[in-house]
Amino acid sequence: MPQRVKKDLLKSPRGTRDLFGDELSRFDFIRSRFGEIASYYGFQKIQTPHIEHSDLFTASLGEATDIVEKQMYTFRTRGGDQLTLRPEGTIPAVRAYFENGMQAWPQPVMLYYSGSYFRHESPQRGRFREFGQVGLEVLGDSDAIADATVIRVADLAIKEMGISAQLELNTLGDKECRPGYRKELSNYYRKHFNYLCKDCKRRFKENPLRLLDCKENSCLELKKNAPQMLEYVCKECKDHFKAVLDFMDSLEIPYLLNPYLVRGLDYYTRTVFEFVATLGGKEGQAENAAEKVERLEVGGGGRYDYLAEILAGKSLPAAGCALGVDRLSEVLREGGVVPPTEEAKVFLIQLGDVAKRKSLALVEEFRKAGLRLAQSLAKDSIRGQLRVADKLGVEYSIILGQKEAMDGTVILRDMSSGIQETLPLPKLIERLKNKIYPK
Ligand code: AMP
Repeated sequence: MPQRVKKDLLKSPRGTRDLFGDELSRFDFIRSRFGEIASYYGFQKIQTPHIEHSDLFTASLGEATDIVEKQMYTFRTRGGDQLTLRPEGTIPAVRAYFENGMQAWPQPVMLYYSGSYFRHESPQRGRFREFGQVGLEVLGDSDAIADATVIRVADLAIKEMGISAQLELNTLGDKECRPGYRKELSNYYRKHFNYLCKDCKRRFKENPLRLLDCKENSCLELKKNAPQMLEYVCKECKDHFKAVLDFMDSLEIPYLLNPYLVRGLDYYTRTVFEFVATLGGKEGQAENAAEKVERLEVGGGGRYDYLAEILAGKSLPAAGCALGVDRLSEVLREGGVVPPTEEAKVFLIQLGDVAKRKSLALVEEFRKAGLRLAQSLAKDSIRGQLRVADKLGVEYSIILGQKEAMDGTVILRDMSSGIQETLPLPKLIERLKNKIYPK
């Protein structure tokens, strides 16, 4: 007797899901739009492994980041290596740059990627444990044009997906000026320590900048009067930031200055940015429409001039960004956007043994001619097959019966008028090509 399968065995792990149908079409659409634009702007695609040495991330992200503290999927292999499922794409790209001798290439090296990333987070709307990202990195350029290129390409890609998202920008300064700001921030929060949430009390000691990222109400209140980085940045950082903003103006990319934008990762310097979309809150949909509006961060990035120093002891100024594919897909879904797919406009109906045997060869004739053909070869009755054709909404059916299979003809049926005619196969293909894709 076969054992009954335990119910949980048939469930994917929490925070992961199967992608198919419309959702997968949206994923493919997002990835291909992004890839097209990134490669046009000179970014080369890179694919790095899903696993990396754990130390790569712990060394570069900083022990006190959420990712290292609690989100990494880390395991020891049979060979004794300590590996981690990649939680993000920038660090592997920088590792790949040095490992593959890209220092010797003309600089900057511009890379883009697309894939799955893994973080042990609490799943909720738009937050998964395995999620898709597409990302860009400009490696080896300290000029503001690198920051601007990354933002430009990300902004274009988002827009061309049919999504509107607000760009928010800030600067975090550098080694020279950030310590002064950090100190001011510590002084401010020390005075209000008792009002901080539990997590922030702990974060306060590790990195006070991360307090600005907290979503707890009491911490949000405190943030309103916290000191702002822009008042503490050195001249070089201020000039760099101004140059980035000038690029935004000349590219006509609207932005919002968000003085409290810090982002979760320690390796950022100078420019940081996020793209924020809004979900829900359509007029008249809810009584408290304003309360139903949800901010959804669909992407973010910035400059990370010191990351390579930590990883490789080498100087490599760089900027990059990553967009969340699941979240972009969610925005598209909510907006009712169905990505264009090449759906079949012709359906093949076969009747009888001889026709069935010939039908696979017929499918191949259509494929060679570049015409999409749907079929349901497992079905035998004409009614059953016509029902599928109706469901698919095809414009034409072709019917291959016993007689047609013998004399090399087929019946072409116009599905809306019901008119049928018998044609030799080559003529039929020619006819459909002209009707479906007229020149
Ligand atoms: P980050 O790598 O944290 O800078 O995130 C870049 C983008 O990836 C974010 O703006 C999100 O859109 C997306 N993202 C990050 N974490 C997740 C997650 N757990 N689930 C879905 N999307 C995510």
